[in-house]
Amino acid sequence: MRILLVYLIFSRLVFAHDVHETSSYQLQEVAAGNFVHVGSFPPYSSANRGDIANIGFIVGEKCVAVIDTGSSLHVGSILKSAIRRVTALPICAVIVTHVHPDHLLGLNAFTKDQPITVYGHHRLPKQIRTRSRFYLESLEQYLGTAYTKDHAVDASLITPVNGVLTLDLGNRLIEIKSWGHAHTDHDVSVTDLKTRTFWAGDLVFSEHIPILDSNIRQYSEVLGELQNLDINHYVVGHGPLDRPWHVVLTEQRRYLGVLLKEVRAAIKNDVSLMDAVNTVGWIESEHWHNFDLYHRRNVTTSYTDLEWEE
Ligand SMILES: [Zn+2]
Repeated sequence: MRILLVYLIFSRLVFAHDVHETSSYQLQEVAAGNFVHVGSFPPYSSANRGDIANIGFIVGEKCVAVIDTGSSLHVGSILKSAIRRVTALPICAVIVTHVHPDHLLGLNAFTKDQPITVYGHHRLPKQIRTRSRFYLESLEQYLGTAYTKDHAVDASLITPVNGVLTLDLGNRLIEIKSWGHAHTDHDVSVTDLKTRTFWAGDLVFSEHIPILDSNIRQYSEVLGELQNLDINHYVVGHGPLDRPWHVVLTEQRRYLGVLLKEVRAAIKNDVSLMDAVNTVGWIESEHWHNFDLYHRRNVTTSYTDLEWEE
């Protein structure tokens, strides 16, 4: 009886509250068994130590799946400790939603001690090989003496997903889905079928400016598909998780729509790329965090793509 009582108290503390704290590290249980750490908005800095992306995990009756691992071994290790405060079950899978360093570079915090299957898009290994060196050099600049070579991710660790792959975490099935060109050309999402929680990775941003590292036309089509998903909860790659899904998607589609329309017009009117980055889409500047940091890059990516449009 006493054991049952302790269990019930523990369950309430850990599972019944939407938000609870593991040390100073905040976890939000967005749906039963789906735990998210919401990263901060500012870009990578020594103050936030790269804690900028939304990362988390899903707990089944048999094991745990981690979704994204943060910007560094430090961020990955904190997430790993937070998992241990929620459950003693083993981690059986790590899913990397895409190559960007704020989602990837904490991976070795999970793989260094034990063999864990790491899942990613079938195009992810190539992206890791292509971009790793650049990402590690940037990380070294940020971390200084705290940087170690252990951050280098071995692309051959990735078990490729092409289509939909279902994992059983113990009375809890999750689906990993590989997408076409969207935020990048190698995004995967994760859906917890038990609670219908959709982990979008960086396919979707909330209040943080959407980032385009692929093809704007195909990204817009993917967002149209996401708008029709039958889901109860969601996790986006950056930003708050408490706004209505359709509002978050409508805002992001509006931004990409403005970008598409105004970049096409700029090309048609012979506006140079150098001028376009400072004029196209600036009507959106008040609506997004980190607009100054990423908008010009979005214009550049769209412009160089649409320039060759038929
Ligand atoms: Zn990203």
